Amino acid sequence: MEKEKFLKRMFQEYYKNQFKKLDLNLKIDQREFGFLFWDNPTFQRHKSFKDFKELTQKLLNNGPKHVYFSAAYYEIPEALKMNQKYWVGCDFIADIDADHLPSKCKWEHDSFNCKKCGFSGKGPPPKTCKCGNTTFNQNTWVCDTCLELAKNETLKIFEEFLIPDLNINPNEIKIKFSGHRGYHIRIQSEEFLNLGQDARRELVDYLTGNGIDFKVLGLYEGRKKIVFGPNLNDKGWRGRITNYAFKFIEQLNYENMKLFKTLSTPLKKKIIEKKPLILENLTKVPSNWNIVPGISLDHWQELLNLAIKKYSPKLDIPVSIDVHRLIRLDNSLHGKTGLKAEPIPIEKFRAYDPLKDAIVFKGEIELIMRKCPEFRFGDTLYGPYSEGEKEELSLAAGIYALCKSVASLP
Ligand SMILES: [Zn+2]
Ligand SMILES: [Zn+2]
Repeated sequence: MEKEKFLKRMFQEYYKNQFKKLDLNLKIDQREFGFLFWDNPTFQRHKSFKDFKELTQKLLNNGPKHVYFSAAYYEIPEALKMNQKYWVGCDFIADIDADHLPSKCKWEHDSFNCKKCGFSGKGPPPKTCKCGNTTFNQNTWVCDTCLELAKNETLKIFEEFLIPDLNINPNEIKIKFSGHRGYHIRIQSEEFLNLGQDARRELVDYLTGNGIDFKVLGLYEGRKKIVFGPNLNDKGWRGRITNYAFKFIEQLNYENMKLFKTLSTPLKKKIIEKKPLILENLTKVPSNWNIVPGISLDHWQELLNLAIKKYSPKLDIPVSIDVHRLIRLDNSLHGKTGLKAEPIPIEKFRAYDPLKDAIVFKGEIELIMRKCPEFRFGDTLYGPYSEGEKEELSLAAGIYALCKSVASLP
């Protein structure tokens, strides 16, 4: 409990001294708020505040572990039933999190144990434990590889889709660090405000290439089984499928060609042999998709489906579709890291370093460490530590270690 009290006090300090200067145009009075506190496992929601000042007062009084607000706007956000809140509209949200990305390092630095039988292992937990239970304790770790992957997916969404294809004004695209292992994109625009769940699902299908119709994009079979396809510099998904085909073929080898279900072994061999020629012809205008005789439209479609799965943006789909979702509040602190969920101007996003730029605490702290791997915080590498080591860390790194339960107060 000492640890929780300490973290609560540190979070209160932040809300009192730093947060109050960070007012954002979020239309606070129309949002529903939700909280998790340090000393109570119950999720508290259906809260509302008349303005930023009143919200700040709540945060500095309670120093909550997690703070959420609705992507939706309501007339009565504090109403206890959804249909009594009077939904006005909802920002569009894309949630990109390392939890949903195929990072190999997760299998090294994350672990879980079953809440019922204690069965434990590395990586993300299974859906169901051997004992039939479905709830797990999870230890997740923030690493540079995971953060980089999440950043690349985020860049992909706004640089390749939102701005060029959907023509969204960059001023209406709000990006923020999640405070843990990912990023949120929030589109705050009149045009998206009133979209229902079906329209949002369609938008997600567009981003992820789900249910794509290749014929509409210009990929089809003509006379004598000649395959016609779009050109590399075509706009939208037309150019994108050619580009994906190019990238996918470029990285093909005998090993990963096992993924193909429809290709015979001689055809696989021919693709590898003629790879440079196939690639060269995909870049021509008009493109030529007929370099290897026997590669039919069906084969191309299988290849493109594999390529889309590999290269299309990975986002947490239910978050984008749900019009009542609560998401982490901008500039609030994340209870698993002590880092700030900071909004990032689009032009600064590439260079953004969460493990440095989202740090809010200054000073040093002495802690008793538990066994934990090496980690970077700011410009400093900490650890690896062994059980019971007494160490001085920067306050920010110390709070991170406390939040991650790899340290305790002396
Ligand atoms: Zn179990
Ligand atoms: Zn990682």
